Amino acid sequence: STFSGLGLDPLIVAHLTGKMNISKPTSIQKAALPALVRPTHERDVFLQAQTGSGKTLAFLLPIIHDLLPLSSLSWIDRSVGTLAIIIAPTRELAKQISDVLEALLQMRLRPDDDGDGDASARMTRWLVSGLLTGGSTRAHEKARLRKGVPVLVSTPGRLLDHLQNTSSFNAGKCRWLVLDEADRLMELGFEETIKGIVKGLDGRRGLALQAFREGKSPEAGGWDWERRRRTVLC
Ligand code: AMP
Repeated sequence: STFSGLGLDPLIVAHLTGKMNISKPTSIQKAALPALVRPTHERDVFLQAQTGSGKTLAFLLPIIHDLLPLSSLSWIDRSVGTLAIIIAPTRELAKQISDVLEALLQMRLRPDDDGDGDASARMTRWLVSGLLTGGSTRAHEKARLRKGVPVLVSTPGRLLDHLQNTSSFNAGKCRWLVLDEADRLMELGFEETIKGIVKGLDGRRGLALQAFREGKSPEAGGWDWERRRRTVLC
């Protein structure tokens, strides 16, 4: 099968094959994409796969696919705030995810957009990513958030800190929450921090987290399938 066959936008497929040399989906991508790219299937998803399996793109591609149509809106800009948040247990992992995301976001956002475009075209793009890991100063991160960061990769503590203390951090429209290596997040003692984040974003996401802790699979019941916003646990 192909990425087009899995329902991905042609602009994304063109970028993957032409610029990233990725043409065949891995098995986790074949399993995850149909569940995550179709707007009628909005729900929480567990992705279980080992490192090296292509898990990162399995959640990043559906996020970009979801946000891409916004690029055709004439009014869209970074003031929409943060639309997707990916949480990783360590700085290193967050940086790796952010690198893949940045490579993806070099793509053409519209059919008439020259992807390799000049600097000014790139500067005015709204779909940009940001990395928050406590690696730079809080003031610097606040300034980034004030400008607006549509797709954010973060470690848990720093994210909660900004949700609670950075008033210009606009996450009210956040549509995606990905907990990468959710089991490790729990092992490392981030449970309360994640709960705080979930509460700060949208209380209902807590259901997914609770089910995960209780070892319930979506089939086990007690699951709200009709959720407008998606939480992905990997
Ligand atoms: P991950 O499991 O997400 O850490 O990905 C492991 C490596 O596989 C990364 O270097 C990716 O760039 C690469 N990769 C991901 N998906 C594909 C694919 N469909 N075809 C070839 N390489 C891929």
